[in-house]
Amino acid sequence: MDTKNADLAALRDALGERLVTEATIVNGYENDSSRAVFTGATLGLVLAETADDVSLALAWAHERGIPVSIRGAGTGLVGGAKAYDGGLIVSLERMNQIVSVSPDDRLAVVQPGVITAELDAAAHEHGLFFPPDPASARTSTVGGNIATNAGGLRCVAHGVTSDWVSALTVVLADGRILRTGALTRKNVVGYDLTRLFVGSEGTLGVIVEAAVRLESLPEGDPVTFWAEFDGLAEAGAAVTEIVNSPARPEVLELLDALTVQIIEDVFPSGMRIPAGALLVGQTVGSDAAKHAETILDISRRLGASAAQIAADDSLVEARRMSNPALSARGLKVSCDVGVPVSALAEVFTGIAAIAERHGIEVASVAHAGDGNLHCKVAAPDTPAGLAQADALIDDITRLALSLNGTITGEHGIGLVKHHELPWQLDEVALDVQRAIKRTLDPRDILTPGRAV
Ligand SMILES: Cc1cc2nc3c(=O)[nH]c(=O)nc-3n(C[C@H](O)[C@H](O)[C@H](O)COP(=O)(O)OP(=O)(O)OC[C@H]3O[C@@H](n4cnc5c(N)ncnc54)[C@H](O)[C@@H]3O)c2cc1C
Repeated sequence: MDTKNADLAALRDALGERLVTEATIVNGYENDSSRAVFTGATLGLVLAETADDVSLALAWAHERGIPVSIRGAGTGLVGGAKAYDGGLIVSLERMNQIVSVSPDDRLAVVQPGVITAELDAAAHEHGLFFPPDPASARTSTVGGNIATNAGGLRCVAHGVTSDWVSALTVVLADGRILRTGALTRKNVVGYDLTRLFVGSEGTLGVIVEAAVRLESLPEGDPVTFWAEFDGLAEAGAAVTEIVNSPARPEVLELLDALTVQIIEDVFPSGMRIPAGALLVGQTVGSDAAKHAETILDISRRLGASAAQIAADDSLVEARRMSNPALSARGLKVSCDVGVPVSALAEVFTGIAAIAERHGIEVASVAHAGDGNLHCKVAAPDTPAGLAQADALIDDITRLALSLNGTITGEHGIGLVKHHELPWQLDEVALDVQRAIKRTLDPRDILTPGRAV
């Protein structure tokens, strides 16, 4: 395929100024927030405004076998939205309308480029909220969240994005438009294609509209609590007991001492630096205070050196700053693994041993209630430095797998984790995944070589 000479005229005729080729603009859409950096040259960028724009672009690319990268806000951490040399970029950022909010049905219909926190805010006006809340909620898009099946802070109580998607409109690789699901609470017609597209990381189609479920806002204000531990393993053991207790936290996050120190250095807010780990969480509803006290009791019984109700929710806000703070300090090489909650203490003990063996400091943040960990390490921007950091992260990933865990809990596979796929999926599983991909995208134009 000679992509350099590919004929853009037909696409330009159809899309007008919505097809952009000026390098200074296109460059801003070529990378995501991972360290997979694009170095090639793209054919152009489609700033889609309608499903028909997307359909036209994909049909054009399909006919010519041109690779397409799909972009929401580019906050992805695994290189999924990175551009392709000689490829087309389809951006959904202009499709950013909340089409409707139906309080009686607790449903919202949205375009894919709506910012997650804006959907949540719109739902609040009706006494409702959108439960999935990745720490990037103020910048990521709902389409990107659906494509990655994003998790977040509230997922310990409400599940992940797939639990909140009711129906989708998807443009397939050849430009056809597919509608999945229904606006009902229950629907068992045919295979569950909605779930198939959730988490498909841009490899099966472009999500151009979504009907998402909303939840009633809990009564009163959330109660924020914190507990300090001398070690991560002790904190992990406390989390296991907390999630199995009647106290149902809506948020249960764990930060190691290094992470707290770095957040405090970069975004000072007066946080105390724990000796080992800080557990931060929230309870909601009419029994919020009672549940928070139960959690504090469990924490104290399992070794917390200090534990109390916080005056406000600033600790949860500080937790949201962990990723930017760690990145600002050069801890850019990260992983996203999951383990069963019962294995939390063991995984933290294992991570400490791996860090010692490699002689590199590891910062850990966890959506602890879900057993979902993000470990970050610093690496000099040299091939040798990055290889050393990658080797450490690989060891953590293998440790998680040995504890019946997963190689990614929420960020997805993309490009960055593609080599890890066979560590978790056997031949049969890989075969079935790739057969689905071939059926829906026989020319392999959508986000090729990533995710599956
Ligand atoms: C500071 C920070 C904190 C984060 N915290 C969390 C967290 O708590 N939980 C979590 O899960 N993730 C987190 N992330 C990762 C990231 O925000 C999520 O993966 C998010 O869902 C990506 O959304 P996006 O709109 O930026 O998508 P992009 O990065 O643009 O794309 C992500 C993937 O989805 C595909 N895609 C995007 N839009 C569409 C569409 N409309 N149709 C089909 N495919 C599409 C892309 O091709 C790509 O493969 C964090 C990232 C940052 C930078």
